[in-house]
Amino acid sequence: MTTAALIVAAGRGSRAGGGLPKQYRQIGGEPILARTIRALLTCKQVDLLRVVIHPDDKLLYEDTAPDDPRLGPPIIGGSERALSVKLGLEAMAEDPPNKILVHDAARPFVTQAAICDVIEALVDYPGALAAVPVVDALRREEDGLCADPIDRTRAWRAQTPQGFHFDEILAAHRANTDPMAADDAELARAAGLSVKLVESNAENFKITTPNDFARAERQLSVALETRVGQGYDVHAFASGEKVTLCGVDIPFDKTLSGHSDADVSMHALTDAIFGALAEGDIGQWFPPSEAEWKGADSAIFLEKAMERIRARGGVLINADITIVCEQPKIGPHAQAMRQRLAEIMMVEVGRISVKATTSERLGFTGRSEGIAANAIVSISL
Ligand code: MG
Repeated sequence: MTTAALIVAAGRGSRAGGGLPKQYRQIGGEPILARTIRALLTCKQVDLLRVVIHPDDKLLYEDTAPDDPRLGPPIIGGSERALSVKLGLEAMAEDPPNKILVHDAARPFVTQAAICDVIEALVDYPGALAAVPVVDALRREEDGLCADPIDRTRAWRAQTPQGFHFDEILAAHRANTDPMAADDAELARAAGLSVKLVESNAENFKITTPNDFARAERQLSVALETRVGQGYDVHAFASGEKVTLCGVDIPFDKTLSGHSDADVSMHALTDAIFGALAEGDIGQWFPPSEAEWKGADSAIFLEKAMERIRARGGVLINADITIVCEQPKIGPHAQAMRQRLAEIMMVEVGRISVKATTSERLGFTGRSEGIAANAIVSISL
């Protein structure tokens, strides 16, 4: 049973103002579409994601799309939303998934609960859509005056994702002759499919007008929190010819002993990240009792920690590492270490600091029995 998702991002967003199509404009320093893609990829039940884009937006899209094996190549859309969805479905029809979620690019605040609930509803119904009950009183307007009330009993505001069994919604789109069709739930109903209303929440609003951008920024500033984490590690020297620190090999007349490559500074950094996330420590994620990690490149550990930040919708703000040893000299390698860490962590090098100190010949580091490392990170969740 495979579940795919289709993000519709082919519109021009003319009501939002501004130069760029709205889905490529930034909120909280990141394009809306990048946030929407991440929200869907965070859902482990989504096996494949495709994005329908405007033909003029290919370069914009390339700059926006993350690297993820579940994200397929973009699909060129049409002039109206219904046509774009149809083109998206047709492009997936060769190797069709069982279920498909259709989602608006301009709804970056969709919750994991809404995505999961829509997928879940497809077990019992051919269609399902995220929606919220209308709570405000509704009034008809006549000549600028308040006229008759509209009964809001059983009225819901439709959102996305809207989910369907793939073959059925594709058939509904093929049968549709109205390019201005409201949404996929409407087409499904026209094809005789019952569509379950799945209660979502108001945060999953569609960014449409200039005011909505301000609302989105407010929502983000409430949602974001800054966290710090710290890590500490020690490895002893053993006989050898090099040490590996922050992913850089330094020729030396000893090596560091350990189960993996004994990259003490990368271990401290990895632990600092797990600490900021409150997700345990490196030993829990990669037990030294498991033969798999023997001699392992510690980059694997750091990549996992970074993946956890991203999975929780966060970003790394900065990392500061201090290596404590008398020898080898760290200074000449510090820049290469920053570069290597930035590469592994997929962040700009300006966010990474690597520095070193001796311990004035005091203690185990002073007696050159081993190397200690401290790391502090700050992340935004
Ligand atoms: Mg270690």
